[in-house]
Amino acid sequence: MSLATVDDPTREELQLLATTETEEQATTLYDTIHNSLILSHIIPYLPVSSVVNLAAASRAFRALIRETPGAFRHLDLSHVKAVQFEIDKIDHGGEVWRNVQLDENVTEDDFYSGPLRGIFSTLGRQNILHNVQTLVLDGLSVTSELCHEIINDARFNVRVLSIREVKNLNHRKLCQTLQYACRPTRRAGSPSLKALYVFGPRDWNQRSQMALASSLQHQGDAWWHKKGRILPRSVSQEWADCMFTCQGIIAFDAVLCQGPRHRNSPAYKGGSDLDSARAVATHALLGCESCHEAPEGLTRLNSSAVANLPLLAPLPLFSSSLKAAVNPREPYSSFVPRCMDCIRERYCTGCDKWWCESCYVLPGQSLGGHFETQPRVSKSCWECGNNCDDCIGRTQRVCKKCCAGYCTTHNEGCSMNHCDWCVSRGRGLGRL
Ligand SMILES: [Zn+2]
Ligand SMILES: [Zn+2]
Ligand SMILES: [Zn+2]
Ligand SMILES: [Zn+2]
Ligand SMILES: [Zn+2]
Repeated sequence: MSLATVDDPTREELQLLATTETEEQATTLYDTIHNSLILSHIIPYLPVSSVVNLAAASRAFRALIRETPGAFRHLDLSHVKAVQFEIDKIDHGGEVWRNVQLDENVTEDDFYSGPLRGIFSTLGRQNILHNVQTLVLDGLSVTSELCHEIINDARFNVRVLSIREVKNLNHRKLCQTLQYACRPTRRAGSPSLKALYVFGPRDWNQRSQMALASSLQHQGDAWWHKKGRILPRSVSQEWADCMFTCQGIIAFDAVLCQGPRHRNSPAYKGGSDLDSARAVATHALLGCESCHEAPEGLTRLNSSAVANLPLLAPLPLFSSSLKAAVNPREPYSSFVPRCMDCIRERYCTGCDKWWCESCYVLPGQSLGGHFETQPRVSKSCWECGNNCDDCIGRTQRVCKKCCAGYCTTHNEGCSMNHCDWCVSRGRGLGRL
């Protein structure tokens, strides 16, 4: 019964136990995991292949796994070899694809989603598919048609879906599917999907998930603790419109920018149509440097609807609830989600300070033009981008030898008093 007293058994320990063969030890393992509380805490750490192998070990194990509610609640297929879609394999007529390639009636969708469809139909036959509430398909070949089925087909009951860094996905069609699923005339209680991870990078492999979780404890969660750039790339207009339609129904691992120029902002006061289009926030900011607020208000944990908060990584292992996926760990602070266009001339990329629309009128935009605003941020180094005076004072220096300006961050090899060029040439610096 040693396993029951260990808080977090490693996967290796579990696998060792699972593969023991002697009668006595097998009984011990069965007794231990017969407790459904213990089993449900062990299973999310096991790769799906180990769970299936365990179920195949004996009739008793099979019954135990099949009858434990939630045994297949969290299904992570991203590491299953049989569904890894490698284009090289296809080019060389790999085994998995040989039959498919020979069939001329195969559609593009069959071709790209074939491996996953195969797994889903097997799971469906064994009455497992309907129990899957968290489905992780990160990095796999996932078509928009397959997503459409996962979201709309009654065979599925997926509440949390993760399709980060997937291949062969038509994002435009997926947006249409989501908008259809969230249409005002949808069936009551539909869609079952509550959370979609699609924008962020995939979590590390399962083995390092524990290490990742503990390192994130120090780093803090995106948006709530980590500030500055959160999404590495900007997101298309289609996604912004899709997220608006799904607002309050499906949560994403990103949120909309509510800067006052967007028509979905509570602070919107009208403007040109082009400027007022919706946009996905790429940055998380603290309150404005002057007023500690934002015209649209800050996103706060308890005052915002759960479905309007960003999903956090890594995915929760022990729950498929939306609350578990959006709840930040301590320490956290309220934040302002903004797109780059809303903060371009207001934000320092060096220290993440920004000045809001109420406190700072951009130079050239002052109404009436009685007063000249001093720019809060400016560009002294191309690579640093827009920086505030404090950051510029800290990084931009003038060489004491040649009087040229240089950046202590980006001119590699410079010293506090001399530019990289003078240092590399040694230009008599020894005598200075
Ligand atoms: Zn302000
Ligand atoms: Zn914006
Ligand atoms: Zn700064
Ligand atoms: Zn620089
Ligand atoms: Zn110099």
